Amino acid sequence: MDLIVLGAAPSFTDRAGSAASCYLLVERGEAIVLDLGQGAFPSLAAAREPSALLTVVISHLHPDHFIDLVPLRHYLRYQWDPPRRLAVLAPAALATRLDALNDEPGFTAASLDVAPLSAGRRQIGPFAVEAGRVAHTNESYAFRVAPAGRAAGGPATGLVYSGDCGSVGDLAALIRPGDTLLAEVSFGPGPVPAGVPHLAAPEVGSLAASSGAARLLLTHLQMGFDPAATLRAAARHFAGEVRVVTEGDRLSI
Ligand SMILES: [Zn+2]
Repeated sequence: MDLIVLGAAPSFTDRAGSAASCYLLVERGEAIVLDLGQGAFPSLAAAREPSALLTVVISHLHPDHFIDLVPLRHYLRYQWDPPRRLAVLAPAALATRLDALNDEPGFTAASLDVAPLSAGRRQIGPFAVEAGRVAHTNESYAFRVAPAGRAAGGPATGLVYSGDCGSVGDLAALIRPGDTLLAEVSFGPGPVPAGVPHLAAPEVGSLAASSGAARLLLTHLQMGFDPAATLRAAARHFAGEVRVVTEGDRLSI
């Protein structure tokens, strides 16, 4: 399974050319996307035919994780004749939010088939997707995605993506030994201010170590935090490979 980072930025940034949360996963020729934040649609459209995705999975309803569903919706509706449709798996309030943004009932349903997300396991084409609730908004999810139905050779390792998360304990149940952990580190080397539902590198590094993760990918670093210092703060707690990912990174999971 391949991971292509299309957006690694948080809610705002001064990194020119960046985009917010968006991770493309490709397995046996099929693809899904985890989150579609601001500025991510052009990168998606350049990397892959958007209408051919199996589904777009949205972790929670903060704009830096879903707002480019708007250009995706317009693309499906106006770039194709007849218009195309796409499946979206998201917290149940998504369609209401997008409809209100455009002040147009049915705006979302015109192009997107939104199914409500819930905790648990489901198969999407060749992807086994497990969702778990995390503390962040009133409905936020993290995900484990692994190749489904592969031939013998032991259980496939997968990718665990934190979404935005206020408690590393919520991620632990999703991680299997050998997995790659893709975790938000909004507050870089830390600490996270009291009461703010985000993570920083030290607790993410400790989680990677205690859960048996093979690799730690750091993302969603807020403006003003130093990537190198953030990486060092995680590596003090985790002996495996650690890197700060950015747009354009391609990794084999
Ligand atoms: Zn958020």
